[in-house]
Amino acid sequence: MTHFTNKVAVVTGAGSGIGRALSVELARRGARLAICDVDTHGLAETEALVKAAGADVKADHLDVSQRELVLAYADDVAEHFGVVNLVFNNAGIAFTGNVEEMSFKDLDRVMDVDFWGVVSGTKAFLPHLVASGDGHVVNISSVFGLFSVPTQSAYNAAKFAVRGFTESLRQEMIINKRPVKVTCVHPGGIKTNIARNGEQVEGRDHDKLASSFDKMARTTPEKAAEVILAGVEKNKARVLIGADAWILDKFVRLTGPGYQRAVSSFSRRSGL
Ligand code: NAD
Repeated sequence: MTHFTNKVAVVTGAGSGIGRALSVELARRGARLAICDVDTHGLAETEALVKAAGADVKADHLDVSQRELVLAYADDVAEHFGVVNLVFNNAGIAFTGNVEEMSFKDLDRVMDVDFWGVVSGTKAFLPHLVASGDGHVVNISSVFGLFSVPTQSAYNAAKFAVRGFTESLRQEMIINKRPVKVTCVHPGGIKTNIARNGEQVEGRDHDKLASSFDKMARTTPEKAAEVILAGVEKNKARVLIGADAWILDKFVRLTGPGYQRAVSSFSRRSGL
């Protein structure tokens, strides 16, 4: 028996990276799984991996930025399994560009997936998690939800917002004695396709951005999944992933707004 045996867990953005690794690890630990993604091909690969690990799995195409679809999906999952215990609001996208270069459309797209996708997933599943008597909301923010960097204002805004939303929800669940735990996750650099799948404003070199990210990302998605599930088991309010996340978090807390000078000077020198 593990903490997750027979629990029903929902993972958004399960077709790649952290979402895939979480799905596989949850399957190994005996969870039943509802996995979803906009990438049907990636999702089918994850479905096969999860089945090979012996899990009961429901796989669906879902765009988390479509609120009505997310609401209907939550009811569908609850009806299919009869209960929902955990939701991992993980789906996310990256976008690079200065505020002056970005259109409102660029900003909206990032907020729609990275912030509103998390809010919709949380709100849609919350009544089912409460009804389970043993629920857990796990929202994936980022180290970029702890401090800001140039060219990431949209992503920073979304990830700070996820953190604010999630930390408030956790306190509400405690005050209102709801049987739902809440965890906010802040990964450092994880070796996934996020930068390759990401977009940027015109004139920025996609391959250069992706290969710089690949050099900086040190933690595997499998390790990230392990750390997240350990945090969930311990009902941690905040989970940091990777030495980079721990060091940067400490640095930002020590320097206050002064971190901005160091980060912008690093950014200028590295051309990122
Ligand atoms: P990834 O690109 O490997 O996986 C993200 C998945 O989300 C993909 O399968 C993609 O198809 C899916 N997705 C994108 N838009 C979607 C939508 N509208 N609806 C449903 N699915 C959608 O990236 P990853 O690194 O595994 O990212 C997972 C989460 O972790 C994201 O929220 C990301 O912001 C966060 N994160 C990643 C890192 C990192 O270094 N990789 C660091 C901090 C936070």
